Amino acid sequence: MKSPVAVIHSNAIRYNLLQIRKIVVHSRIMAIIKANAYGHGLLEIAKILKDLADGFGVARISEAIMLRNNDITNPILLLAGFVNINELPIIIKNEIDVVIQDIKQIEILEKIKLQKLIKVWMKIDTGMHRLGFRPEEAEILYKRLIECKNIQKPINIISHFSMNDKPGLHDIAFQQLNCFNNFIKNKLGEKSIASSIGILLWQISHLDWVRPGIMIYGASPQEGKQGKDFGLLPAMTLKSYLIAIRKHKAGEPIGYGGIWISDHDTTIGIVAIGYGDGYPSNAPSGTPILINGRKVPIVGKVSMDMTSVNLGINSHDKVGDEAIIWGDLLPVEEIAKHTGISHYELLTKLTSRVLIKYQE
Ligand SMILES: *Cc1c(COP(=O)(O)O)cnc(C)c1O
Repeated sequence: MKSPVAVIHSNAIRYNLLQIRKIVVHSRIMAIIKANAYGHGLLEIAKILKDLADGFGVARISEAIMLRNNDITNPILLLAGFVNINELPIIIKNEIDVVIQDIKQIEILEKIKLQKLIKVWMKIDTGMHRLGFRPEEAEILYKRLIECKNIQKPINIISHFSMNDKPGLHDIAFQQLNCFNNFIKNKLGEKSIASSIGILLWQISHLDWVRPGIMIYGASPQEGKQGKDFGLLPAMTLKSYLIAIRKHKAGEPIGYGGIWISDHDTTIGIVAIGYGDGYPSNAPSGTPILINGRKVPIVGKVSMDMTSVNLGINSHDKVGDEAIIWGDLLPVEEIAKHTGISHYELLTKLTSRVLIKYQE
């Protein structure tokens, strides 16, 4: 059995970045490429974007080092900063910028003597309550950062929107923005709060830097919408192929547990995709796969290496025919809707068994 392939369209990646550039004329763009660029391949995406994006944001120090070891010279921000003092020499050597979000990090920076100044972004918790300093404690800590000899001045300031998908989205975002604006008032340095949702919905949140993730990959940050609603191009086509075509009689079950029983004679196709590839095991019967231009429903349980689809009694599909799991004509947001797993997660959790290929 051949492996499924995730085809990454580099022109779509570039196109989406340029779309963002059109929306945020006055801001710099930090392309977020954490988690293997949302499953699209960290290094390849960085190479595609290095002349288009002003900087990159990653979650893990290993991701930043991988970029530096491969001649990516754009600014790189480590979105949660460092945890251990031992990471600092590596961070300095590789010229990685860091988010400061916990008092422990400040204490470490006050204690050691670095070879070079480090560029930091102080994170303010404006309502996400995940990382960052509470506004009421932030002023004092801001002063400590200013006094810290290892740190480049001025101090940059960052926060993050918590809502992508709820009613009340706008109210909560504006409360966060208010809170952020109160803190940054009369402070020098660069400021950033907008991820994809802010870029698309709230122009006043754009500030000095925007931090698009999901938009780069052509998908929507907002629930109920698709990338194309915002003029974006899906960058990934995940495809596999049919490995068997079977006659199936009414009344017969399919797959583990026999949870789906056909009420009609039909033709079943077996597609080489399963949870071992990262396809969600909870995808219910009815989740579509695109075969020869038709959306056909999966039936029965997804297994490790394969999934059954109902091709219909008069189908002409053949073994070897392509099966598109998601892509341009079957947006990943649609699979998210069927499975209840966000498209962020679907893209990110493909396993290493899926080959990634790059095309124009
Ligand atoms: C992941 C992340 C982003 C990008 O978010 P999208 O919704 O994918 O645009 C931006 N900023 C931070 C701090 C992040 O962790």
